[in-house]
Amino acid sequence: MPRTALSPRQLSLRNTEAIELWPASLLRPRGSADARTLARARWVLRRKRDGRFLAAELAEGLQPLVPRLAREPGLEAALDLLDSPSPRGARAMPAALPLDRIGERLHGLGLEADAYAARTGLALVAEPDWLAFAGHDRWRRPLWLHPTAMRAWHAMRQAAAGDGVVLEAISGYRSHDYQLGIFERKLARGLALEDILAVNAAPGFSEHHGGLALDIGTPGEPPAEDSFERTPAFAWLQAHAGAHGFTMSYPRDNPHGIVHEPWHWRHAGP
Ligand SMILES: [Zn+2]
Repeated sequence: MPRTALSPRQLSLRNTEAIELWPASLLRPRGSADARTLARARWVLRRKRDGRFLAAELAEGLQPLVPRLAREPGLEAALDLLDSPSPRGARAMPAALPLDRIGERLHGLGLEADAYAARTGLALVAEPDWLAFAGHDRWRRPLWLHPTAMRAWHAMRQAAAGDGVVLEAISGYRSHDYQLGIFERKLARGLALEDILAVNAAPGFSEHHGGLALDIGTPGEPPAEDSFERTPAFAWLQAHAGAHGFTMSYPRDNPHGIVHEPWHWRHAGP
């Protein structure tokens, strides 16, 4: 297998239940040893729960970056994916990963998935088995989106720029594990589950899990604040986002009981 660098069009985040495969070129090294390894790697296996780098795929083979790599949960699925061809071509579409583990994990937080779904009218959202590289967000972090949403976002951003409006990505795809981490940290700080649920969708129920939702901002505005509603960027989105396939998911008094989120837009999908 040639170890040439991947072009931006080929960059994808490849996803399994427990481990993500990241293009090494998009990862920030966390030390000089990391930097030397990442410079020679094409893919890095990353634990979803805490972002830990598990192993790097080098020309001479897989280099473990943690002790006891062989015992890492989900390693088999990640290695199978590493050996399979990358998604390619303009028409390649992701498949949905199974949702069978999320109910048990919600139960661990003290939340019953069925009752939450009935109460909020929200549905479980499966993660895609890969996501397309959509550029960088406001903080220069890689932005991952479903390929359909990625193309629509680029077209919409360009159209806005043509009208003198700068749209910035605040946040795109987020995994179930990422959302679980938010809840675990807030619970550890002593927040009540009900208070967390007033501002964060339960893990598994966020539109961000599917890669079709995008939080949008504009320079000079704080991220994810109500004040975004009073910007020219928001006025532009209200007039034009629909033509690009995006709608605002949580307007005022939405039936899901989620706070008004003028920054959160969802693409209709393929
Ligand atoms: Zn959002």
